[in-house]
Amino acid sequence: MPELPEVEITARRLDAALRGAQIESALAPGINALKTFRPPLSALDDRAITGVRRRGKNVVVDVSGDLTLLVHLMSAGRLQLFDKRAGPRDRTSRLLVRIAGGRELRLREFGTKQAAWVKLVRADQLETDEALAKLGPEAWPDPPADLGARLQAPRPLHGMLRDQRVIAGIGRSWVDEILWTARLSPFKRGDDLSDEEAAALRDAIATVLDGAIEHYECVVALPIADKLPLPLLVHRHAGEPCPRCATTIEAVHYEDYVICYCPAEQTAGRVLKDRRLSRLLK
Ligand SMILES: [Zn+2]
Repeated sequence: MPELPEVEITARRLDAALRGAQIESALAPGINALKTFRPPLSALDDRAITGVRRRGKNVVVDVSGDLTLLVHLMSAGRLQLFDKRAGPRDRTSRLLVRIAGGRELRLREFGTKQAAWVKLVRADQLETDEALAKLGPEAWPDPPADLGARLQAPRPLHGMLRDQRVIAGIGRSWVDEILWTARLSPFKRGDDLSDEEAAALRDAIATVLDGAIEHYECVVALPIADKLPLPLLVHRHAGEPCPRCATTIEAVHYEDYVICYCPAEQTAGRVLKDRRLSRLLK
């Protein structure tokens, strides 16, 4: 989180509110989230925002004068537009873009990790930036037609679908929803996928991401809330009944993510070993 649907709604809302807006100045307070130093942030002064869009899980803010701000929210960042400027005690801000008239676009980050980042690049250097150059095809609105071929590797689907070089936009939350929708095991290897299963997976990616974005269209307004109302059915629902078949949703915990699945519909009834539990028992 945020993944493709959350970044998409963020970009849509910001585009509607900021297209044509004039930037007064920008600064990156505290520990610097800004990963580039040429051009300097001051290059944004007195420029106009010409659009806000999404690429994979990145937000792209296009600025006049052939400049582009590339923003990655990582796991706990938010890009929020406020009517007033941040006070000096706001410790969550990583980037402040002051808009003429008093508004402020803020990259804020919650939690202890500081991972969200920003790059200011020349527009013609955007696509060759390492963050975008290696991105696979977008997962939405049209998942790649060659999805089955792209997944031909001896790696579990759960990891492959989150690999941005294979397909761009899916992360730890939505991958569980997609695999559950397709009735596929998160541990099934990509090279074990039949043509029918690959087609079901492609459908599931489109349906699940479509549904999430439609949901956000109804419930998300500016300034985008710190906590988005994620319409998840399986992820974060371990121990609860599966919404389709009422079997208890199981979970496998890893160091920094959790896989949730329905054993009846996804793993032929098998409950997979929870690594967290087995580590504790060693
Ligand atoms: Zn089920």
